[in-house]
Amino acid sequence: MAQPIVNIDSVYKQYGTFKAVDGISLTIDEGDIYGFLGPNGAGKSTTLRMLLSLIKPTAGSIEIMGKSLDKSRNDILAETGSIIEKPDFYLYLSAKQNLWLLSKMYNQNIGAKRIQEVIQQVGLSGRENDKVKTYSHGMKQRLGLAQALLHNPKLIILDEPTTGLDPQGIIELRELILKLKNEGKTVVLSSHILSEIQLIADSMVIINNGKAVAQGKVNSLLGDDDVVVYVELADTEKFNTEIGQSGFVAALTGIEHNVAALKLAKQEIPHLVSWLNDKGIAFYALDYKKGWKIIF
Ligand code: ADP
Ligand code: MG
Repeated sequence: MAQPIVNIDSVYKQYGTFKAVDGISLTIDEGDIYGFLGPNGAGKSTTLRMLLSLIKPTAGSIEIMGKSLDKSRNDILAETGSIIEKPDFYLYLSAKQNLWLLSKMYNQNIGAKRIQEVIQQVGLSGRENDKVKTYSHGMKQRLGLAQALLHNPKLIILDEPTTGLDPQGIIELRELILKLKNEGKTVVLSSHILSEIQLIADSMVIINNGKAVAQGKVNSLLGDDDVVVYVELADTEKFNTEIGQSGFVAALTGIEHNVAALKLAKQEIPHLVSWLNDKGIAFYALDYKKGWKIIF
C-alpha cells in the first residue's frame, strides 16, 4: 500500500466573499505523479500555493510527509522543490552562477558537484556558463526545474510547467518528470489540458470553481473500459420511471430529447440491454463512445 505524502483536508481559501478554493480534500501517494486538472481560474495555483505555504488556508488542514504544514513548515519546505511562479533569474549571470547563488540560500550542503548534477539532469550541459539572457523559454524553464531540484527534494510541485513550451520542450519535460518518478520522487503538476495529465499522471483531481469534482487513478477516471452509452429510447417515460429503482441510476449522466447517456464500464453494456428488455423499455438504438467526455 502506497504511503500518503500529502493530505489535504477540507481546505478553503476565501478572498472577501469569493471562495477561490471551496473545500478541497485529497491525498497524494508517495512516488506518484499527481495531476491537478482544471480550467483557468479553477483554483489550481491557489491550492498549490497553500501546499508550499506561500498563502495560508482560510480553513482546513494540510499534512505533508506526516507533519502538519502549520507546525513544521521549514522541515517540509526543506524536502520540497517547486516552480510555482515564473522563476526569476539574474539574466546577466550564467545558469551555474544563478544556481550557485540559490544554493547559498538553502541552508544545506550544496556544492559545485550537485550544481553540475542538476544541470545535467535538466539537459543544460554545455550551456551552463552562458548568460541566462541568451536562453530560450524552454531553457529557462529547465533552469527553473534545476532550481527546484537543487536540494534533492522528495516532493516536487510544478504549476503549469508546460506553459510557453514548444511540443519538443513538452516531450522533454515529460521525460524528465518520468525520470524523477523513477528516482522515487513525488511530482505534483497542474494543467488545463487533459492530455498533459492523462499522458503522465498516475492519479489526478479535476478542479472546477474551487471544488474537486472528480479524483482518483487516471486509469479508472479515464480508462479504456469507461464508455458513455447512448440509448435512443422509444419509451422515454417508462425509462424515467424505471431508472430510479435500478442500479443504473448513478451511471445516468443526462437525458436529451429521447437519448439517455450513461457512463459505464464497457462490460456492463450487456447488463444494461438485459435490464431494458426485462423492464420492457423499448429502444431504437444503443451506441457508445470510448472514454469520458471532459470538456473545458
Ligand atoms: P488556476 O490556477 O486554476 O487558474 P487560481 O488558483 O489562480 O486558478 O485562481 C482561482 C480563483 O481565485 C480565480 O478566480 C482568481 O481570480 C482568484 N484569486 C486568486 N488569487 C487571488 C487573490 N489574491 N485575490 C483575489 N482573488 C484571487
Ligand atoms: Mg494557475
